[in-house]
Amino acid sequence: MKVGVIGAGTMGSGIAQAFAQCDKVDTVYLCDIKQEFADGGKAKVQKAMDKLVAKQKKTQEEADAIMAKFKTGLNDICVDADLIVEAALEVMDIKKECFKNLMENIVKNPDCVFASNTSSLSITEIGAGLPKPIVGMHFFNPAPVMKLIEVIAGANTPKELVDKVNEISRDLGKTPVQVNEAPGFVVNRILIPLINEGITVYAEGVSDIEGIDTAMKLGCNHPMGPLELGDYVGLDIVLAIMDVIYKETGDPKYRACPLLRKMVRAKQLGVKTGIGFYNYADGGKVPVDKA
Ligand code: NAD
Repeated sequence: MKVGVIGAGTMGSGIAQAFAQCDKVDTVYLCDIKQEFADGGKAKVQKAMDKLVAKQKKTQEEADAIMAKFKTGLNDICVDADLIVEAALEVMDIKKECFKNLMENIVKNPDCVFASNTSSLSITEIGAGLPKPIVGMHFFNPAPVMKLIEVIAGANTPKELVDKVNEISRDLGKTPVQVNEAPGFVVNRILIPLINEGITVYAEGVSDIEGIDTAMKLGCNHPMGPLELGDYVGLDIVLAIMDVIYKETGDPKYRACPLLRKMVRAKQLGVKTGIGFYNYADGGKVPVDKA
């Protein structure tokens, strides 16, 4: 199988790695809007392979064979792809334009499956007006490690497409869960409001940052507290998903906490900007209310 991954960022590079590690995949086209971005995605996978070899979880030969499956470039290299997984930015127009161009001008294989890794956008809306149907194939970060794939059917997604993506997910060693289209699907619909509520509890002064995270870890057996998890996901992503769920449902229970919005405006996005609810300077992790 030949797989085209569109977008070589955090998710795209991880998804590309997950496919390259699968025996049934012989080629992974890792694509971005600039050659250097695509090469950067491949370099991240190379780094991950080097670590696996160092830890003796893969031999050098296995790692080399995985890397040899990669071809990097712009989206137009996906000519003979059997599957496209789009992992470009979470912007409706960008996703629609990507699929339109791939379907009309690039991919020549009539049986190619077109899937989007969107975290929250409507599969029905992404697919509207396109010449072929699409399906949601929602990986979780880090994609090579996380076992779940939400397989999302939009209103016009044929059952065969869902079945096909379920099968491909199992080939990757993942567990697919079938989800009907709804804002946030299953995981983000539950998880993101939980993080938002953690932020609200902090903003109200109910407890301090470590207190809230410790309470949820020990009280609910969660591996991470809501504030550290928000930092890990990226507070901009948390806000974007809250806003989508709120806009789609019109339900005030999904209102984003004003503190979350303020932190995003201040670029305090968590791990990726070095500061969020925790300060990650010098490889540390200090709650900002204790700094
Ligand atoms: P990212 O910003 O790290 O990467 C996006 C990449 O897409 C960038 O390298 C960008 O240059 C590229 N891109 C933009 N327009 C493009 C185009 N027209 N063609 C090809 N490449 C293009 O973002 P990310 O965190 O990897 O998220 C990607 C998608 O995956 C989003 O839809 C996001 O909602 C979804 N997602 C993210 C997570 C997560 O935890 N970050 C989890 C699941 C799903």
